[in-house]
Amino acid sequence: MEKQLHSIIEIEQVSYRYEKEDVLENINLTIHEGAFLGIVGPNGSGKSTLLKLVLGLLKTQNGEIRLFGQEISRFKDWHKIGFVSQKANSFNTGFPATVYEVVSSGLTKKLGLFKFMKREHHMKVTQAIDSVGLLAFKDRNIGELSGGQQQRVFIARALVSDPKLMILDEPTVGVDAQNVQSFYEMLDELNKKLGITLLLVTHDIGTISDKVTHVACLNKHLHFHGKTEEFEQLKMDEMSEFYGHDVHILTHEHDHHHHHHGGSEQ
Ligand code: ADP
Repeated sequence: MEKQLHSIIEIEQVSYRYEKEDVLENINLTIHEGAFLGIVGPNGSGKSTLLKLVLGLLKTQNGEIRLFGQEISRFKDWHKIGFVSQKANSFNTGFPATVYEVVSSGLTKKLGLFKFMKREHHMKVTQAIDSVGLLAFKDRNIGELSGGQQQRVFIARALVSDPKLMILDEPTVGVDAQNVQSFYEMLDELNKKLGITLLLVTHDIGTISDKVTHVACLNKHLHFHGKTEEFEQLKMDEMSEFYGHDVHILTHEHDHHHHHHGGSEQ
């Protein structure tokens, strides 16, 4: 008997259209508590639009979205959702702030002013930095860190408000190809140890890891949604057709010798 898991995100018959262009057509997708879902799709396939709908930044036109069982227009518990945007990469990292300070700034949502941080808040910040494996770097200036480390800082910054769901937009952009697997291992720990449901999107199927529990392939329609094992068993030529070039999934056995384009763009 499988345990009945709560639905964290339910997307039902959602379509979306900008002025002239249908971008999403009849998307049905349910994400259960504890899942680690990777949504893959080429540029322009509607990934950002879908995330914006889920984050309430765009209003649904057709269909219904429920978050934690609540219809999105009535949803109030936004503190349960952490979001790390792609923009995190272009954050002004020349600004002289330490890792600790940047992560602390995530508390402003909770505290208003972080100059009134209490001991428990300092502990929370330290724990968050530890969770992303950067404790040794906590007093370093963020500008001195690598792209992948900076991305971890922004994840830690989202972690301080104890999210139940974390949404990550293209998190491996800026992570060196050889560090993508360990980046996924860190996310896997947030998922398994802290029990955070994870949703990430990426245009680069070459960087999707077998650490994700589920994969969804989006290109206006949802072409596939299932467990990662099922995705790996898909005929890769089918996927290549979908993508327009050869595709592989990042596994421990194969490691990362087959990058057509690594995560080190931008
Ligand atoms: P992805 O994140 O997968 O790259 P997007 O959701 O950003 O895809 O975009 C999907 C399509 O919608 C693209 O063709 C894009 O040009 C178009 N699009 C995105 N944002 C807007 C907008 N604000 N107005 C009009 N068209 C848009």
